[in-house]
Amino acid sequence: MPNNAPIKKLVHAGLTVEGYSRAAVQTYWRINELKLGFDLGAQPWDFMGTPSWFISHTHLDHIAALPVYVARRRMMKMDPPTIYLPHHAVETVQKLLHVFSRLDRGRLPCELVPVQPGDQIVLSRELVVTAHPTSHTVPSLGYIVWERRRKLKAEYRELTGEQIRDIRLSGVEVSEETRLPRVAYLGDSTPRGLDDSPDMYRAEILISEMTFVAPSHRKDKIHKHGHTHLDDVVERRDQFRNGLIILAHFSTRYHERQIRAYVEKAIPDLFDGRIHLWI
Ligand SMILES: [Zn+2]
Ligand SMILES: [Zn+2]
Repeated sequence: MPNNAPIKKLVHAGLTVEGYSRAAVQTYWRINELKLGFDLGAQPWDFMGTPSWFISHTHLDHIAALPVYVARRRMMKMDPPTIYLPHHAVETVQKLLHVFSRLDRGRLPCELVPVQPGDQIVLSRELVVTAHPTSHTVPSLGYIVWERRRKLKAEYRELTGEQIRDIRLSGVEVSEETRLPRVAYLGDSTPRGLDDSPDMYRAEILISEMTFVAPSHRKDKIHKHGHTHLDDVVERRDQFRNGLIILAHFSTRYHERQIRAYVEKAIPDLFDGRIHLWI
């Protein structure tokens, strides 16, 4: 298989997170078990089989490979993919695909689904994705992937199978839906994106940006540019209840060792080892 774009991989709680994210370079993530991905700044050949993508915003480092991805799936005779993206962008992306289609002399079949903050997208009986407002320099969204399960209501848990069956046959609903936030994806945002959707803090896996880490890069200025700073993460220590906190999208101004040094100085225990720096 062609190795056309770097991928880092991590398995946690039965989910395989794969991806790459550096600010102004490219960002893409996928969770194979959930058959979905976030952002298409580039498209590793191996990600082609993933049929559903959620775009956080239309900066080029997050969508540049969208036409390429659609074209490759057509070439490989796969079904047209479904791409969810901020609603304001749909018409422009349609035009973009039309232009590429003319240049490439090939069709670019896909379903572009407009998404607004607050929307719920039902992917399957087990999976629902919710869209959340984030705070960036262009309209942007974060996403939470929920696993749905049906559970017996608390008041019926002591009963026998026969008793439960009788109640069910009498037309009473004995089970209720529970939702577990499995993965949250912030995209590019100031920490308001997390604060405004506290469910992000309790997803099993959180993928968050932390573009800036140096103390000399002042937090207020960074917020104006729609990004998060290491200090923002430190201040919110008690909020994060995630099993795994992936911090990514670091500025290219930093070397890998600088990022590690700043973070290890500010958070020596890496929030009890739950923080993973995606570099
Ligand atoms: Zn970005
Ligand atoms: Zn951006």
